[in-house]
Amino acid sequence: MQKKQQDKQVQIDNLNNQMEAAVGQLPLAQTSEDIIPAEGNPNAEVLLIGEAPGFHETQQRRPFVGRSGQLLRKVMTEVGLKPEDVYISNIVKARPPENRDPSAAEIAAYKQFLDAEIEIINPILVVTLGRFSMAKFLPDVRISQVHGRLHKVTWQGRQLYVLPMYHPAAALRATKVKDSFIKDFEKIQKVLDWVHDQQQVDDLKSVVADALL
Ligand code: URA
Repeated sequence: MQKKQQDKQVQIDNLNNQMEAAVGQLPLAQTSEDIIPAEGNPNAEVLLIGEAPGFHETQQRRPFVGRSGQLLRKVMTEVGLKPEDVYISNIVKARPPENRDPSAAEIAAYKQFLDAEIEIINPILVVTLGRFSMAKFLPDVRISQVHGRLHKVTWQGRQLYVLPMYHPAAALRATKVKDSFIKDFEKIQKVLDWVHDQQQVDDLKSVVADALL
């Protein structure tokens, strides 16, 4: 494992320990076992953000391992994204009863942990799965209008590329949504290539700007 990846893993482990230690102040979780940590490569370029763990995630203490997770992981494989190419997190880290939508207060309570993950991972691309994670970066838009379209956003003073997608659970409910979900996923590699090119142009611009100063 590279040094940078090791350093990030240490920071992620510390963060997960802090979250478990804070369980008494966190909604939806009775014990630290109810907290479902994110998983993946902390050095990944792509950060996927879902909504909340469900029954199977809580049983296995892993994100996206139930029916919608199986679809997500299958589509990822089909488009050539390996588990080590991504980091997978959620807006809230414990299961809402009956899988209801997370409330604004619950999202706010877990925000500090997701924000810290974004800082540590420092992804090139954030893929939001469903409207709750989309709303974190793109408030006031409709998923049906913006899914699969790349957005450059300023978030907490940093530039992030955000690609909103339907939630895989929605894809399981309707064939049309599933087709869009797959098509949108197929764009990820192209988007990454484009963002890399963009970064090279930005680097070149700053070299030129420095030379002109
Ligand atoms: N749905 C989510 O949004 N996250 C999970 O981890 C599982 C299902």
